[in-house]
Amino acid sequence: MAKVVLKDINKVYPNGFNAVKGVDLEIDDKEFMILVGPSGCGKTTTLRMIAGLEEISSGDLFIGENQVNDVAPKDRNIAMVFQNYALYPHMSVYENMAFGLKLQKTPKAEIKERIERAAKILAIEKLLTRKPKQLSGGQRQRVALGRAIVRKPEVFLMDEPLSNLDAKLRVQMRAELIKLHNDLATTFIYVTHDQTEAMTMGTRICVMNDGEIQQVAPPKTIYNRPANVFVAGFIGAPQMNFFEGNVESGMLNVSGHKLKPGDELAALIESEAYEGKALIVGVRPENVMLAKGETGIPASVEVTELLGNDLNVYFNLNGKTYTLKTDASQNLKIGDAIRVDIEGAKMHLFDPDTEKSLLY
Ligand code: ATP
Repeated sequence: MAKVVLKDINKVYPNGFNAVKGVDLEIDDKEFMILVGPSGCGKTTTLRMIAGLEEISSGDLFIGENQVNDVAPKDRNIAMVFQNYALYPHMSVYENMAFGLKLQKTPKAEIKERIERAAKILAIEKLLTRKPKQLSGGQRQRVALGRAIVRKPEVFLMDEPLSNLDAKLRVQMRAELIKLHNDLATTFIYVTHDQTEAMTMGTRICVMNDGEIQQVAPPKTIYNRPANVFVAGFIGAPQMNFFEGNVESGMLNVSGHKLKPGDELAALIESEAYEGKALIVGVRPENVMLAKGETGIPASVEVTELLGNDLNVYFNLNGKTYTLKTDASQNLKIGDAIRVDIEGAKMHLFDPDTEKSLLY
């Protein structure tokens, strides 16, 4: 069990590419920290530096109390689970799980005991004699986890471990990983580009873009109080709408419609002389509604997307596409004229120059 601290960590690859820029991050003991961001944002590089698989260009990395920049991976007391599982094909499940422990010269009886315990946690007791090719994707993933568990690491590092699984199994494994984290009470650091995995599993989420941290916070905070336009747009599906707005008498004028912000933003706008200024108005699709009667902003339907109970409606307003979420009973066709209402109290406001939320 250990805390992991990154202090001003940078990675410059030999070709001069600066993949990770000044990352400061404290991951608490027993935390489930998710590193999330678009492809190429530097999350895998960050994880590999923690694992010791990639050299740190500058900055300090601590695991527990120790600075480990120059400590070999095998001496960092971490275990890494990869996307492709990396199981040895010629060994049985048991041998795969035992391999690392044998290298450490762990006594045979203890190896057996640890494997049996891990196999029980992961429900793979019946698979111990099989070879990897005789297993399904989900079973292989469990074996890869088992191999990590038996080493009793202080920190688990996982790089997109569920991305090779089909949608149904991914949902199931997500729940199992949450349970596993609970049972093991160990620090997990988990890389994904999938915001659903981030939102459902993390105790905190670290959102990265372009080698830099954008925000570190619990999932609810990331969703309800995104620090900037990037985080607001990255987390949430369909993504948040961004309108151009102007502050007029404490209200936001969006396409000629006055919207009243929630209390906190209303007070801020008033106290900080935003009158007359242009702001980016962020509204999640669930806070845009089909208007009743002749009220609301006129728009037209571009595409609809039926998701069982919900209907996502992509609509055109002043030549741009926005989204609203409504219930599946609405009968809308492409080209239909609609009117939309925006729930002002749920709006997010961002400075157009810095793209930062006014609340940060
Ligand atoms: P993905 O989700 O696609 O795996 P990522 O966020 O994990 O993306 P990284 O793999 O950390 O991204 O890569 C970050 C950036 O560093 C990318 O632009 C990548 O092209 C670059 N990069 C990775 N490895 C090297 C390397 N060995 N030399 C030069 N650049 C590299």
